[in-house]
Amino acid sequence: MSNTRFEALAESRKRTHPNIEETGRRSELFGKNVFNEDRMLQFLTKEAYDKVKSAIFQGSKIDRKIADQVAEGMKAWALSMGATHYTHWFQPLTGSTAEKHDAFFDILPDGKAMEKFGGAQLVQQEPDASSFPSGGIRNTFEARGYTAWDPTSPAFIYKTTLCIPTIFVAYTGEALDNKAPLLRALHAVDEAATGVAQFFDKNVRKVYATLGWEQEYFLLDKSLAQSRLDIVMTGRTLVGNPAAKGQQLDDHYFGVIPARVLSFMSDLEKQCTKLGIPVKTRHNEVAPNQFELAPVFEEANLSVDHNLLLMDVMEEVADRHNFRVLFHEKPFAGVNGSGKHNNWSLATDTGVNLLSPGSTPMKNLQFLTFFINTIKAVDTYEELLRSSIASASNDHRLGANEAPPSIISIFIGAQLSDVLDELEGVSKGKLSPEEKTELKLNVVGKIPEILLDNTDRNRTSPFAFTGNKFEMRGVGAKTNCAKPMTILNTIVAKQLTNFKKEVDALIDKKSLKKDEAVFNVLREYIKTSKRIRFDGDGYGMEWQDEARRRKLSNNKNTPEALQVLTSKESVALFKDMDVMSEVELKAHQEVELEAYILHLQIEGRVLGEMVYNHIIPAALRYQNLLLENVKGLKEVYGAAYNKVAESQLNILEQIGEHMIEIKKQTDEMTAARRRANALSTINKKAQAYCNNVKPHFDAIREQSNKLEKLISDDLWPLTKYRELLFAK
Ligand code: ADP
Ligand code: MG
Repeated sequence: MSNTRFEALAESRKRTHPNIEETGRRSELFGKNVFNEDRMLQFLTKEAYDKVKSAIFQGSKIDRKIADQVAEGMKAWALSMGATHYTHWFQPLTGSTAEKHDAFFDILPDGKAMEKFGGAQLVQQEPDASSFPSGGIRNTFEARGYTAWDPTSPAFIYKTTLCIPTIFVAYTGEALDNKAPLLRALHAVDEAATGVAQFFDKNVRKVYATLGWEQEYFLLDKSLAQSRLDIVMTGRTLVGNPAAKGQQLDDHYFGVIPARVLSFMSDLEKQCTKLGIPVKTRHNEVAPNQFELAPVFEEANLSVDHNLLLMDVMEEVADRHNFRVLFHEKPFAGVNGSGKHNNWSLATDTGVNLLSPGSTPMKNLQFLTFFINTIKAVDTYEELLRSSIASASNDHRLGANEAPPSIISIFIGAQLSDVLDELEGVSKGKLSPEEKTELKLNVVGKIPEILLDNTDRNRTSPFAFTGNKFEMRGVGAKTNCAKPMTILNTIVAKQLTNFKKEVDALIDKKSLKKDEAVFNVLREYIKTSKRIRFDGDGYGMEWQDEARRRKLSNNKNTPEALQVLTSKESVALFKDMDVMSEVELKAHQEVELEAYILHLQIEGRVLGEMVYNHIIPAALRYQNLLLENVKGLKEVYGAAYNKVAESQLNILEQIGEHMIEIKKQTDEMTAARRRANALSTINKKAQAYCNNVKPHFDAIREQSNKLEKLISDDLWPLTKYRELLFAK
């Protein structure tokens, strides 16, 4: 009998790794495949260049004539780079990115070549995309969706295709993707933050949200990964015993990167550099075979695109190096999962990071304004923020040992806590000259530019202030950052809008000075948002109890977490900020729930197949082997065989018991799935999968793990954790 596991192990031992030369300077390679400023200057007319720039800066429209010119320039550049096709590159609601390639040229019947890429093709395309999830917005009877050029994210060449970043919307205008709402949220936060930043500096014209993500991932040998049905189909292991040596020794974290992995990383970074993804750091993570890659932060829309592109490139490069990369948030039980911290801040077009303490009291008051408003926004909309990171796979990670809990709270460190405590005591209304001086010199003026305790101390805080930015840590490794970034920027936009109104009212109606008004409003925010601040350890029941007292939400699973998306408050918020309509919110919620159901359904099916076609047959083979042995002993020893065969008989009995139990659990799981599928609403279905189907997964895993421990190693068909995780 052939055993895929041993074939895969043999294969994995033969690996050699290519030597990726790190020649040439990164800076020369950087953006080689991107239609960036330099290329635009080279390939566009001055007029077209200016129009694209103002579209990027002001969001102004690009007319058809200019679009034709841009298309012409883009095509000339792309052809000079050897590109043969172009595609509108977009982000459907589930999955990462999608594309449909068209050739630049067509051959007419008379053999003449015809050009196909002009302004029309650049600006808009109609992918035959009726099978992308749309949450009922666009059923097949209605007008189809189309993709539209996003000039704020530069086109790039990937392999031989010119990729044009686009949004994907229905003809009725509703977003069918993650990018359109993100762009609207970024616009909202720009408007709101610019208004507030102008309290401090009249020259500010634009505020950008910035995002720096940190991508964690696992790297497995390709053959070993392929030998496991569950990894191939679901991206994670559904059964398997932890290896005797796990991550207890912490010897992988920041350890030496294995040569084969280093070769993969060098290749990957080379590809990224050409694509203009500013990758910077790489290191081992806590778990064996787990790694992290982080770029320099960028404007949020571009950064989101770069993360999605990175994930595509990683899969391709990994394949070339005979690896398989796993982005699943929890591929192995008992081993740390993978997240994608989202570092976020706001920056002005004058080059100021609004979340960075400065060198003067005025700069610090500006810092405090944005800092406290962010805290207030997260406090008001914590449940919405939680919903943005909900997914079937991230459910396994949130609240597990190493990861932030599903309760949102904010860590700000002792120094800033002290500052907020002081500000809470600011007098109501007008401030005396003495109080003002005291505040400026001894409170606001004393904030150090480098905050000592705001580094990595509290690793489990879901939303931590880390010196000059907030770090959202609950985001899953697989998640499209557009989701959390849309919500975060929307709630901050809303909050800053409220803030400006309140400050303006105090100035106009109570004739307070600007700084007095700011102090007055901030004081109230500090008082009313205290419950969200938590500097302690997020593990365990104590914090859960405390969080309940503070009335913070604690939505432990995706179906629960997604409910808030369509609450009255959420609908009002998104409408107010012009980010999503009620129809879009409902559609997005439905698509997420549907994705949740599908994930669990697939996992359930795969688990059923593994139990019936792999695990039980292996148990039977070992059973037969033992029976054979016992029979032989009986022949030789006669009535006395019982004593000699005692351990065999005992193992036989145990195997029998686990087989009965695993079959029972599997059959119950299948029945529960059938019942769930028959339910009428998507909400009920999702809940049934969560509460009635999923619990069987753990029970089945437990039985399988017991069998794995009993059955002879050479008969066990599933590649083991120690083999998957410790192959070099
Ligand atoms: P580390 O935490 O490794 O010491 P940093 O604090 O500089 O390094 O950065 C961690 C991550 O935060 C990086 O991905 C970086 O790009 C990002 N980052 C740094 N500053 C900002 C910012 N102002 N806005 C968004 N992301 C940022
Ligand atoms: Mg981090």
